[in-house]
Amino acid sequence: MSHKTMSEPVHLLPPADWPAPHPGCKVCGALAAERERAQAAGDVSKVSDCNVEIREHKDAHPRTRR
Ligand SMILES: [Zn+2]
Repeated sequence: MSHKTMSEPVHLLPPADWPAPHPGCKVCGALAAERERAQAAGDVSKVSDCNVEIREHKDAHPRTRR
């Protein structure tokens, strides 16, 4: 068995492939909270559903220009 330190699971932080919820968006926040509950329950399909919804919801956000 080979030792891969790169694939060491980190439980304190969300996985890197999880999309980040848009700050200030209640819908994203609710989805992120639901995702965390789903992960705590071990419901990976629900987690994946929430990830898809958060990722797709990004398009609904107004773009802030600076
Ligand atoms: Zn959103």
